[in-house]
Amino acid sequence: MSERYFSPSYAEARRRFIEAARVVNASVHSYAINATAKNELAIDVAIIGADADPALVVSSGVHGVEGFLGSAVQLALLERLKAENNKRGIRYVLIHAVNPYGFAHLRRVNEDNVDLNRNYMASADDYAGAPSGYAALNGLLNPESPPSRLEPFKAKALWHIWRTGLPALKETIARGQYEYPRGLFYGGKKPCASTQIVQNHCAAWLAASRHIVHIDLHTGLGPHGSYKLLLTESDYAEHRDGYAKTFGTDQIEPLTKPDGMAYRVSGQWGPWMQQHFQTRDYRFAGAEFGTYDVIRVLAALRAENRAHHYGASDSPGYLKAKAELRECFCPESLAWRRLVVDLGLKIIGQGSPRR
Ligand SMILES: [Zn+2]
Repeated sequence: MSERYFSPSYAEARRRFIEAARVVNASVHSYAINATAKNELAIDVAIIGADADPALVVSSGVHGVEGFLGSAVQLALLERLKAENNKRGIRYVLIHAVNPYGFAHLRRVNEDNVDLNRNYMASADDYAGAPSGYAALNGLLNPESPPSRLEPFKAKALWHIWRTGLPALKETIARGQYEYPRGLFYGGKKPCASTQIVQNHCAAWLAASRHIVHIDLHTGLGPHGSYKLLLTESDYAEHRDGYAKTFGTDQIEPLTKPDGMAYRVSGQWGPWMQQHFQTRDYRFAGAEFGTYDVIRVLAALRAENRAHHYGASDSPGYLKAKAELRECFCPESLAWRRLVVDLGLKIIGQGSPRR
């Protein structure tokens, strides 16, 4: 059953990924993130196939703790490739744990408290500012104290949603901010270590491929067990019909749809890659697998951020916050786990470039 592809920890997920990659004779490239850490944290990239073949990029763990699902799908894919002996003529580029720190420490953000999907800015000057409503919400979102047992957050958040409407709230909170280093959805002040590794090596990973499909695996947005493929603005404008044919009309959505599930975001990885490889046919889709409702997920993010910055790592409040964050981005439910791995493989099959 597909739930067996889920690993209990980053270290175990990494070990299994590298082992499975070696079995299919992939070349494995490892890029350490924090050389001083007791347990090594690294981005591992497994590449199979010829330099000029059309490429399928599957990436996991940009948002740390979301990597449990992404890693499971990558492992399942490697096992499938072993069975098929890669007869398809595709260059597979599997990027494992883009944010290994967050994966290992059960955080959505990295070692700098940065959301890596808000960290790909076009220029150094862009690492500044915050959405207009963020300052007003900062006290509610990012209290400077350990988690308390009396968490009035849900009620307050619901009140704000009632007052501002959900799209406006999502836009304000999740768009990305560059002014509150301990706050949620912080995008950093410069490209982080993980971002630099990707930026410095992605051209080598893609070699001479002209046709590239990139599926970036995420969890935590949308109804439990459902999925959506979130497209960049340019892809949605220009290639919507092709995506609809490939993945199904109901499964695709632009990143910026005002009343949709997603929200406008700055500094994202996909648009950066498309810009960088604009002379090639580069198609990007963020695959989002739903877990729980947005208020529960946001409350979990808030409590974990609070515990991380202000709580003792052995306190019950800290451990509870970590457990809830993990549940919100990787539910224990075996039914959910089976379903999302199978859906992940389905999407990969649908999106695989044709020769
Ligand atoms: Zn994510």
